[in-house]
Amino acid sequence: MGPLYAGIEAGGTKFVCAVGSGPDDLRAEARFPTTTPEETLGRVIDFFRRQGREHGRLDAVGIASFGPVDLDRESPSWGHLTSTPKPGWAHTDLAGIVGRALELPVAFDTDVNGAALAEGRWGAARGLATFVYVTVGTGIGGGAVVDGELLHGLVHPEMGHMLVPHDRDADPFAGQCPYHGDCLEGLASGPAIAARWGRAAHELPDDHPAWDLEAEYLAAAAVNLTVVLSPQRVVLGGGVMERAQLYPKIRRRTRERLNGYVRSPAVVDEIDAYIVPPALGKRAGVLGALALAARLRSGARITRGL
Ligand code: ZN
Repeated sequence: MGPLYAGIEAGGTKFVCAVGSGPDDLRAEARFPTTTPEETLGRVIDFFRRQGREHGRLDAVGIASFGPVDLDRESPSWGHLTSTPKPGWAHTDLAGIVGRALELPVAFDTDVNGAALAEGRWGAARGLATFVYVTVGTGIGGGAVVDGELLHGLVHPEMGHMLVPHDRDADPFAGQCPYHGDCLEGLASGPAIAARWGRAAHELPDDHPAWDLEAEYLAAAAVNLTVVLSPQRVVLGGGVMERAQLYPKIRRRTRERLNGYVRSPAVVDEIDAYIVPPALGKRAGVLGALALAARLRSGARITRGL
């Protein structure tokens, strides 16, 4: 029998837990609302203890967490949430509490890095060495795999807070990021769309001007990511991207704004395969957590299979 992993997608509204080794081998799943650390982590730990009794010993646990988080292995607060505004959760030692209770090694990363890993292993970026995954929803975040490894860098990427051109004549909305005002997240997250137009994003009709503007900002982000990281693919997911008409608009504006400068057929002739939706949908997060655990055990580079 192959190895068996515990995966936790730790979110601000719910924790999604799974036991298995991949999308074709999910033995159990559960979700628990994010209340207090004591209550939520208690339920998570109980779930995995029961699963261990049923399925045999688990090999490792992966946690793909909302943030911000400390990912520095040398830091005393590695595996902790840091300054999250979520009441009661700042400075919670997620990795330590879970790892000690389950007596398992812990792989810990951001939710978007987890989702990127899962899309690389099983989804829309399978087989690629360098790609980005960006989620556009309540917030905007991104994870990157570069030459087969997750990109962490100084802290971890915060792609949602990149600055994008903001024409205040065309869009007088000031943006609503508490740190930057009109960064990408401040202009283009679901709540930003709702604040600008006075209606929830999902209530706006397909022909509403909101979508051309949204595509403009997301195309600026795709251009920035393309010229900075030279990804082989840009995967765009999240609740806002369920509006499928955004993809052709974003592709067209990305190509127009690159203006032939990046000389690859991927962005010139084949942009439909360059900016794509995720393949794993809402399961990317928890599958990402399993992929983190599997990677910890195997030590393998992610693009070379389990
Ligand atoms: Zn910001």
